[in-house]
Amino acid sequence: MTELRELYQQVILDHNRNPRNFGALENADRHKEGYNPLCGDHLHIYLNVDGEDLITDIHFDGSGCAISKASASLMTQMVKGKTAQEARDAFERFQSLVTSEMDTPVDLEEVGKLAVFAGVREFPMRVKCATLAWHTMKSALDGKHDSQITTE
Ligand code: ZN
Repeated sequence: MTELRELYQQVILDHNRNPRNFGALENADRHKEGYNPLCGDHLHIYLNVDGEDLITDIHFDGSGCAISKASASLMTQMVKGKTAQEARDAFERFQSLVTSEMDTPVDLEEVGKLAVFAGVREFPMRVKCATLAWHTMKSALDGKHDSQITTE
């Protein structure tokens, strides 16, 4: 378990240092700002959606703790090229992963790389850091333009 935990930490550190899909997306057709006042994480999510369905591109920028940035980075990798419904399903799986009881086994096949965030279950304050980008992405998909969401 210790080795697994170290691996998880490496993935989070890597995505924090070299966030994927980082930077504003020019001509994004959806933009959403998310704020987690408990920690001070402040992210912007930019989306291009083909028609109403396919997420052709997704970027993020902003500032926040390692967990919020790594989560945003992995989230963009996961939902890019997916349909809006698949992205919503991934949101649900992520949400239930990080809010499940500590002893709930993690289904690696189902959550894949997101399993690295299973560790935040030990730290309820960190759950909001990990889910901020996901809530913001979902809200952008729901089409609520340019209003800020917060985790409160
Ligand atoms: Zn945070």
